[in-house]
Amino acid sequence: MDDHSFNPFISAQQQFDHAASILDLDKATCDLLRNPMREHHFSIPLRMDNGTVQIFRGFRVQHNDARGPVKGGVRFHPMETIDSVRAQAMWLTWKTAVADLPLGGGKGGVICDPHNLSLGEQERLCRGWVRQIFRDIGPEVDIPAPDLMTNAQHMLWMLDEYEVLAGGRYPGAFTGKPVGMGGSLGRLESTGYGVIITVREALKELSLSPEKATASVQGFGHVSRYAIELFQQMGGTVTCVSSWNQKHNKSFSYLKKDGVQLEELLDITDSFGGINKEKAQDLGYEILDSDAWLEQEVDILIPAAMENQITSKNVALIKPSVKILAEGANGPTTPDAILKINARNIFTIPDFLANAGGVTCSYFEQVQSNMNYYWEKEEVLSKLDVKMTSAYIAVSNFAQMNNLNLRDAAYVISVDRVVRACHDRGWV
Ligand code: GLU
Repeated sequence: MDDHSFNPFISAQQQFDHAASILDLDKATCDLLRNPMREHHFSIPLRMDNGTVQIFRGFRVQHNDARGPVKGGVRFHPMETIDSVRAQAMWLTWKTAVADLPLGGGKGGVICDPHNLSLGEQERLCRGWVRQIFRDIGPEVDIPAPDLMTNAQHMLWMLDEYEVLAGGRYPGAFTGKPVGMGGSLGRLESTGYGVIITVREALKELSLSPEKATASVQGFGHVSRYAIELFQQMGGTVTCVSSWNQKHNKSFSYLKKDGVQLEELLDITDSFGGINKEKAQDLGYEILDSDAWLEQEVDILIPAAMENQITSKNVALIKPSVKILAEGANGPTTPDAILKINARNIFTIPDFLANAGGVTCSYFEQVQSNMNYYWEKEEVLSKLDVKMTSAYIAVSNFAQMNNLNLRDAAYVISVDRVVRACHDRGWV
């Protein structure tokens, strides 16, 4: 099968089934957790700037809320599908559980290409999304956050619409808001920093020094750029980064052997993370094909773009030098590719552990918003480090004790936590 077209929900269910068989779960528990508890599908009529009306499809999937209110992002993407949202919602359940947050898992989306929408249209789309789902979200029910191609401004428009409808101020209803408008310091950095905190712990475990480590990164959105920032602060070198190019309708990899410069790349990047190819060339970057980031002679690969990027078709491109795969994106590696990577003993930090920093900081933001009292950045980042490090160490210890890889260990720990909550509540 061409695993570029692999259905991520089937993949998420297979991963769950594997954990369920290790845990020997009963049928009712499996039936409950293999599918979302609730899903909402709706149409959003949008008045376009030219006066016409277009109808967009929106979703919110609430996979499980046994451990607490549902949490997860809202994605804007032209290729969005309900199965992709379902998979992402299920992964959020495991992600909040592996980080031991008192939250459940969900995800939302709109099938749209924000590149083609004016700011006014994006605002009306955000407000339209909230109008459709208002009754089923809220600070104690389901708290959306930014995700693929959504940002702090989108969250503020969504919150504003929510507050108009609710008739009060509920800053804890959304996270990832702008700082000063209910956002938390450190939220923007948190997913990328969290990835590198787990990489730091993995390097320790493998007795490798961060100062000598090299990495190649896919994507140049928030996850990627803050991962690069912290990795460089630790002394590591990032030699290659890839990014989507809207003009050429494909992605390119940007190579600088002695290390990419974050600031100069940010200066030539659009608001969706697209690096200007021509300007990068002028700055001395070698421009390579989309998959070139994967075939770099580096120690660490960090896919931080989209799901289904490392597949059975391109996994063989990974060089023998690669020791760590840190999954910054959700579901970047297809099941076929995972088997091949495991067979090559590449130490993999699975997505829902590696990128749990975002939702962890969202949790901190929600706590601060509900209290209406905001912490200093150092406090947020040090709490993030404590949470991510302890999540990593718990998974790594469990993996060593039970002779499992990190992915299986993270699944078993998180599924077990959710199962206990469902059992304790008397659901199954
Ligand atoms: N969008 C991120 C994720 O899906 C964070 C979710 C959140 O902060 O609630 O993991």
